[in-house]
Amino acid sequence: MIYKGQFLPTKKDLKRLVGHFAMRQNFEWKVKRSNKTTLHLVCLMKNCTWKLRAVRRDKGTYFQVRSFVNEHTYPLEVIHRRHRQASAVIIGEVIAPRLQQQDGRLTRPKYIIVDMKLMYGIQIMYSKAHAALDYVLSLTYGTHEETFQLLPSFSYVLEQKNPNTIIDLQRDEDGKFLYFFMSIGASLSGFRTYIHPIIAVDGTHLKGRL
Ligand SMILES: [Zn+2]
Repeated sequence: MIYKGQFLPTKKDLKRLVGHFAMRQNFEWKVKRSNKTTLHLVCLMKNCTWKLRAVRRDKGTYFQVRSFVNEHTYPLEVIHRRHRQASAVIIGEVIAPRLQQQDGRLTRPKYIIVDMKLMYGIQIMYSKAHAALDYVLSLTYGTHEETFQLLPSFSYVLEQKNPNTIIDLQRDEDGKFLYFFMSIGASLSGFRTYIHPIIAVDGTHLKGRL
């Protein structure tokens, strides 16, 4: 819902609102003018009447919608297909409540593509669906960078709580992650208890006379 006189905390919030709005209404917009005090958006279609103009209030970050013409010159079903506004962030917000499938497993990019098609009638690329999923997961679990940073403390606790556990975390000289190996103590002792010595000979090279 967008209306004249509406306040949004920042310009970014306003753009996000318009992003959701446009996706639902099935049109695309572009920035005609954007600076510290003004935001002027128009419909992507040439000569279309849809437009929104907002200005910053006083010296704060608040933006207020000053004029809003929510009418398109061309029928919406026909013209807007690609949806550049359907950014990974916006798709992410849409799919966030559907992150888990009925069987409890995490949704996958191909299902996101289907969902977007069913919910909004728009076709998105696999890469965008993947980015949207990444975005939602980063909200829940932190970014990949953050989770990698947890590995050393995770290893420490794992070793403390599981005697005889073997862990090896290898990093390059810049401290970047290379490999992580772990073998839980209980699994190791189980393996050692039940393993039998076997000599295996690979027969494929044993043609001809020995
Ligand atoms: Zn339009």
